[in-house]
Amino acid sequence: MGTGILVVAEFEGGHFKKTAYELLGKALELAGGGPVTAVAIGTDQAGDLGAYGASRVFVASGDRFAHYNPSTWVQALSAAISAADPAVVLAPASPACKDAFPRLSARLGAGYATEVTELRLDGGAVVGRRPQYAGKALSDVRVRSPLALFTVRPNSFPAPAAGAGSAELVALSVGQDPVEAATKVVATEASTAGVVDLTEADRIVSGGRSVKSKEGFDSLIRPLAAAAHATPGASRAAVDAGYAPHNEQVGQTGKVVNPSLYIACGISGAIQHLAGMRTSKVIVAINKDPEAPIFGLATYGIHGDIFEICPLLTQELKATLG
Ligand SMILES: Cc1cc2nc3c(=O)[nH]c(=O)nc-3n(C[C@H](O)[C@H](O)[C@H](O)COP(=O)(O)OP(=O)(O)OC[C@H]3O[C@@H](n4cnc5c(N)ncnc54)[C@H](O)[C@@H]3O)c2cc1C
Repeated sequence: MGTGILVVAEFEGGHFKKTAYELLGKALELAGGGPVTAVAIGTDQAGDLGAYGASRVFVASGDRFAHYNPSTWVQALSAAISAADPAVVLAPASPACKDAFPRLSARLGAGYATEVTELRLDGGAVVGRRPQYAGKALSDVRVRSPLALFTVRPNSFPAPAAGAGSAELVALSVGQDPVEAATKVVATEASTAGVVDLTEADRIVSGGRSVKSKEGFDSLIRPLAAAAHATPGASRAAVDAGYAPHNEQVGQTGKVVNPSLYIACGISGAIQHLAGMRTSKVIVAINKDPEAPIFGLATYGIHGDIFEICPLLTQELKATLG
């Protein structure tokens, strides 16, 4: 039976993602003095992970790891688990980990709780809380197998302040899987939007069908998002109508988001939209229908016309936030 917690620290664009620090902070709290380690794929550096509590950082680097490939990731994660021998593995609920973890779970026979938003200790075991039924219910999940795997929604925990620690760097020896040769990722295309991806964004401004056109979306939602230092999002109605691209869709068939601030502009609040943003910490809804369901979930409601409110908000936020 393993001890301690292994954190999957995702590395992209030359740096560790914010989720690495969020998960290390939580791991330190849960480990209660037990070992906290990290695994990073696609880099040969431990970076500053030691300052955030990792005593050892296992790395898998080289051409094989330059792009996400499920087989190589599962091989690398298995190698890290074998070397660190943890009781618990925490990973971000990112596209890569959501793809790799079911395979890892099956490969290792380890129980797996997906997309948790809270983690706590109960009788020495780590228990995860996850939204279910489009976020209408929360369930507490306790994993019975000796190794417990959890994927955690970004922004669920604050990133801790850096300390003075440093980590031992351990290069992993990763075996070859026969399946690996079956697929080859030749390139990865990064978004040119220049904003934080919706799934990791701390602030989001979303627009609905009510923007009426792509021009409406571009002149109301994007400037408001820029002024709020936020990432733009959209309802499916807005995406289906061609006002915004699909990668900006929030909801059941779009992205699941977990920001500190979600501003919904002219979005009714259909259950499929709420499924993607219900766990946002503060929700501001702007709608001209006082009976719109979104007001039932909103922290703050603005009853009014987005064509009047959004430009005013943009102006105010520009003046305040710069
Ligand atoms: C299987 C399935 C999956 C789905 N997945 C998703 C998903 O991932 N994401 C998603 O968003 N939807 C999804 N939907 C669609 C969902 O059911 C709704 O149709 C959609 O969310 C509605 O988008 P909306 O709120 O922009 O439009 P509407 O429901 O048409 O609402 C527009 C709102 O804008 C308000 N309004 C209009 N004009 C103004 C104005 N000038 N100022 C202020 N307010 C105004 C109206 O009062 C209304 O509340 C899915 C549906 C199905 C069946």
